[in-house]
Amino acid sequence: MAGMLYLVPTPIGNLGDISERCRRTLEEADFIAAEDTRVSLKLLNHLGIKKSLVSYYEHNKAFKGEKIVERILAGETCALVSDAGSPAISDPGEDLVKLCHEAGIVVCAIPGPCAVITALSISGQATGRFCFEGFLSTAKKSRREHLESLEKEQRTMIFYEAPHKLVNTLEDLAEHFGEERPISLCRELTKLHEEVVRTTLGEAIEKYTENPPKGEFVLVVAGAPAEEKTSATAEDAAARVAQLMEAGLSRKDAIKQTAKELDLPKNVVYDAALSL
Ligand code: SAM
Repeated sequence: MAGMLYLVPTPIGNLGDISERCRRTLEEADFIAAEDTRVSLKLLNHLGIKKSLVSYYEHNKAFKGEKIVERILAGETCALVSDAGSPAISDPGEDLVKLCHEAGIVVCAIPGPCAVITALSISGQATGRFCFEGFLSTAKKSRREHLESLEKEQRTMIFYEAPHKLVNTLEDLAEHFGEERPISLCRELTKLHEEVVRTTLGEAIEKYTENPPKGEFVLVVAGAPAEEKTSATAEDAAARVAQLMEAGLSRKDAIKQTAKELDLPKNVVYDAALSL
């Protein structure tokens, strides 16, 4: 009979946050798959657990994932841990879960510490509707496309970021969302120097440019304010299309641009343009 995969969350700073169920699962598993075995060994030593560890991280996940699945199919139970927090959230655990489902293996997620939820709850931003955006890509094009896709996002947005990239990321966020947009910078959660800085993107850039940031951060950014309904009329649209065509744009491009500028459906602008 096949074994199982357990997703075991581990503390994001405070060792007291390991739950009884997580401890028991780590003790009872046949083996533990860990992102960084040195980091997890420290936790296991703290818990007094001796267990066989295998490494499973970004650069060996394709090969190691298959091996782990084979062992589970042969009847062993695996507990997956990441360096900190909930496995499979912005870490390679995501792929192992997918592989296990594909192989018909039962996956059990134990609830526990997770940086995104801890940050959201402490942020003081709206929590009713939110979206988790993980780490922004370092590749310019996909980073820009990702941020462009969020320009009208009204839900609270949550990002992970490393301290040495923080200022650059704040600058990119300000470019797309404006310097006045509220943000909560949640730093060193559950640790001795836990701190929540509630400010705006513009002020955060100033603060962290003057004092280079240290520690781990989650950025909780307020969503865009609800859009006011456009008050533009068909006459406004026709006038703008005419103006743009005089300036040299084709009718098609003038309609497209007017629809965007006045936030009107393209067919409304098209009909208005016919009256020209
Ligand atoms: N899977 C983990 C989770 O969701 O809890 C997160 C893994 S991700 C590789 C690591 C990122 O989580 C860090 O770069 C940081 O943005 C955030 N993070 C982890 N621990 C944190 C802490 N104690 N305080 C603030 N942010 C933290």
